[in-house]
Amino acid sequence: MDQKGQFSLKLVQKCPVCSNDYTTGKIQILEEEGNSFLAYLTCSFCSSSILIRVMSMPHGLVGNAILTDLAADEVMFFSEENTVSSNDVLEIHDYFSKQGDFIEKFK
Ligand SMILES: [Zn+2]
Repeated sequence: MDQKGQFSLKLVQKCPVCSNDYTTGKIQILEEEGNSFLAYLTCSFCSSSILIRVMSMPHGLVGNAILTDLAADEVMFFSEENTVSSNDVLEIHDYFSKQGDFIEKFK
């Protein structure tokens, strides 16, 4: 059991608009850099989209969520930061979907 992993999943568990659970929504990891990653979630109930930046700090995880009208590819278009390779995205997404100790990757 990874407490940090549990906490990080709770950050993105519910839609801020309709409060439905995100387990049936879509999660895309847009960017991963060092100890942080940027995720894009689309609610399958109300179709709201949020961007979440999660950083792994020495005392735990810190997350910021932003409601956005942008599509995932538009977010990346406006981002000045480097993109990750599709292999990286798939690998991280795989960790996410298993809801396991994916945070180990950021150590
Ligand atoms: Zn919603």
